[in-house]
Amino acid sequence: PHAPGLELSGAGRTVPLAGGGHIEYANLDAAASAPALAAVERTVAAVVEQYASVHRGAGWHSRVCTELYEGARRPVRDFVGGRPTDAVIFTRNTTDSLNLLAHCLPARTTVVVFETEHHAALLPWVHHHVIRLPAPASPAEAVALVDDALRRRPAGPALLVITGASNVTGELWPVGELAAVARSRGARVALDAAQLAPHRPFSITELGVDYVALSGHKLYAPYGTGALVGPADWLDQADPYLLGGGATATVTDDAVTFKPVPERHEAGTPNVLGAVALATACHLLAGADHEALATAEHLLTDRLRDGLSAIPGVTVHTLFGSGGSGRPDGPGSEADEVPGIGVATFTVTDRPAALVAAALSAEYGIGVRDGAFCAHPLVRRLLGAAGCADSGADGQAVRASIGLGTTSEHVERLIAAVRRIALHGPRLQYVVRDGRPVP
Ligand code: PMP
Repeated sequence: PHAPGLELSGAGRTVPLAGGGHIEYANLDAAASAPALAAVERTVAAVVEQYASVHRGAGWHSRVCTELYEGARRPVRDFVGGRPTDAVIFTRNTTDSLNLLAHCLPARTTVVVFETEHHAALLPWVHHHVIRLPAPASPAEAVALVDDALRRRPAGPALLVITGASNVTGELWPVGELAAVARSRGARVALDAAQLAPHRPFSITELGVDYVALSGHKLYAPYGTGALVGPADWLDQADPYLLGGGATATVTDDAVTFKPVPERHEAGTPNVLGAVALATACHLLAGADHEALATAEHLLTDRLRDGLSAIPGVTVHTLFGSGGSGRPDGPGSEADEVPGIGVATFTVTDRPAALVAAALSAEYGIGVRDGAFCAHPLVRRLLGAAGCADSGADGQAVRASIGLGTTSEHVERLIAAVRRIALHGPRLQYVVRDGRPVP
């Protein structure tokens, strides 16, 4: 997908091939980290020129930096359709945002979470009562499981943690329905939007969720900045996430008082560049032609999934049995197909995932990801269900993902390369060095 104003930094760069020569890099790993927008890069460069202390400095550039930092909250809140009263707390990434939320939950909170979640959404709740739900067979079953768990929970506050789009299967979860059920049972909802946010516009108020967590590096901004957006009450009742300057209102010999959010949970000198970069990306993405982007992504996604599935020995894995982007007229689509973002996770019979990924990079200039994608229970389940556990898949899979800048040439190159690797193996010999196959 391409759109005016959303050009990527470093687009069209080439990478070396192991056999000699260079080729245009086919980055099919946007789901892990997306390249920055060129406009974000320019904004960061402009802010670097203004570099000065933030918040406590009285100089001109300090005031500019402070305004830039504080002004970065609004575009992030608008991007996720937050309420005017929602706090925007800058964090390091989605993992940090969800750990911050876990830190702020009231005592005796019950947390309901599917075992299929990314570890960032699955694990931070260790100090609370957790109800871990098994993988549902369909979106409707997901709603029923949540309803049942929340109905039977112990008295007290409750939080449903749910992903918007899976980083493994790309499937979109029925967030609106899940949130409605959670609300009817008196629970709050935290949305892990790490994968949803780069692909689909959404709104806290329309979905009926409370908290949203996202990462800048998946949203065409650099690494190191994320956000937690949501109501201030629980966040203000909790002790600061970090103790130190910036979070404190007063400090005497024997007492400390703390500021309200967002400062309460942003102790220490903030990441001004990261916040401004994230806000710029949010602003630009919010103004994009979403219909045109989604159409382009659907076409590429359908081709990616269909092309891979048609190769003998290749299995594309989904939880809900969906075979495409969910486009009503997409190839092989069915009325009840679960829509998804541009992600295809696959295994190749008798070809270890790490070897496939290494060959794609070294021989074809294609970047993908291999492993279990920080969602071990889900990947184990998908491979087990597909009968891959004993076909050489070794608990790992390969993930190709589409983002801004992905072209049909990238997708066709991947399909042709996987076909060749599946049928004939890699062209080169590989040895394992530091745990990775290298030619
Ligand atoms: N949730 C999902 C669905 C993700 O894909 C990721 C990143 N792979 C995360 C959470 C964690 O994001 P981060 O590593 O930026 O904290």
